[in-house]
Amino acid sequence: MPFASLGLSPALARAAAELGFTAPTPIQAEAIPAVLRGADVWASAQTGSGKTAAFALPALQRHQDLSLSQRPGGGARRVHTLVVVPTRELAAQVGEVLRSLGQHLASASTSIPKVAVVFGGVSINPQMMALRGGADIVVATPGRLLDLVEHNALKLASVQLLVLDEADRLLDLGFADELNRVLALLPAQRQTLFFSATFPDSVKTLAASLLREPVRIEVAPTATADSGDSATILQRAIAVDDKRRTQLLLKLIKDEGWERVLVFVATKYTAEHVAEKLYRAKVFATPFHGDLSQGARTQVLDEFKAQRWQVVVTTDLAARGIDIAQLPAVVNYDLPRSAVDYIHRIGRTGRAGESGVAVSLVTPASEAHWHLIEKRQGLSLPLEHIAGFEPTEVAPTPPQQLGGASGGNNGGVKGVRPSKKDKLRAAQAAAAAMPDEAR
Ligand code: AMP
Repeated sequence: MPFASLGLSPALARAAAELGFTAPTPIQAEAIPAVLRGADVWASAQTGSGKTAAFALPALQRHQDLSLSQRPGGGARRVHTLVVVPTRELAAQVGEVLRSLGQHLASASTSIPKVAVVFGGVSINPQMMALRGGADIVVATPGRLLDLVEHNALKLASVQLLVLDEADRLLDLGFADELNRVLALLPAQRQTLFFSATFPDSVKTLAASLLREPVRIEVAPTATADSGDSATILQRAIAVDDKRRTQLLLKLIKDEGWERVLVFVATKYTAEHVAEKLYRAKVFATPFHGDLSQGARTQVLDEFKAQRWQVVVTTDLAARGIDIAQLPAVVNYDLPRSAVDYIHRIGRTGRAGESGVAVSLVTPASEAHWHLIEKRQGLSLPLEHIAGFEPTEVAPTPPQQLGGASGGNNGGVKGVRPSKKDKLRAAQAAAAAMPDEAR
């Protein structure tokens, strides 16, 4: 099905084709016609599903339709579309997609829509300058958006289309208050598109309060933008001793011939430590985490995209929203905290129809936690052993079970078995007890 048949203008279909989008992904096929006819949307979708273009294309189309009908004769641009995102990286990425897709939209009576991207952690002045003369589309993180409104650099009273992208992450990061303040500045008469990877109660409540008779769209949580054929993420789990993970990682990088790898770890310290060890072993590796300045973070991502770094060792900061085309491999050096985090992490590979591999390193201490993630994911992977790296460490004994007189082994007495939560806590306690040095 071509893009044009979804109701998009030839200029937008052309811009999509130039980005290599030949056919819409499932979420695009559902969302684009719904947005074009003015409906609110409630979409359960991950990064990797093609969700950015699913809102960007119809947002641009609606903006174009409006400009054509109104034929504005100069004057400051008024914000028509507001996209609220949780992180600076996602803001930059969404802004880039909007600009690329909007590039052919100039006509005799209208110019290309002006897209402004604003986020915190950098000086506000250049952003205020960039907002002179207004903007048509604003992509923003909530705190900086409010700062700019307070500085009178931006007015939100003309917003007709609101997009909340990664709403679950916005709430996770504690943006609920800022979000409410932003919402209070918007006209009640507007269209709202709500995108979230997960829908815990807090997110459902927010969605229900914002949306009017929304079209519901659910795309399978495969974390790929495959429209049906070749996308695959090969998932592997390898058993290894805690202290030998870096050596095993080096071996895998070499043996598997991965040109680029994103390695996930639990702490900033471990990111630094592992990146340094790899670097000393002559692998171009660099850390990425929240303690780096915004400039350094942008630089690392740009250089990784440009293939200047082979390995980026990161905390969960890079687990969501970051799109690095053709990333062949993701490694969980430390396991993610939850099954949802697991999906986000492995979604960094196998994007948009490409194949990728996601390898989880499972230590004796983290094995119970791994099995919980597997169970939640409906996975059952063989726990591989690599010659020379067979685990020898002994798993820590689970803590005394509540009500279980016989400790960890209660002989299978119903009611005193460790619950999932107990097992998870035990695994987390074991991980926390591990010296950072060993990670
Ligand atoms: P997103 O879920 O928006 O982060 O998009 C994930 C990736 O899919 C990005 O690299 C997009 O460039 C790519 N993509 C989005 N839509 C399509 C499409 N229709 N065909 C091919 N790739 C796409």
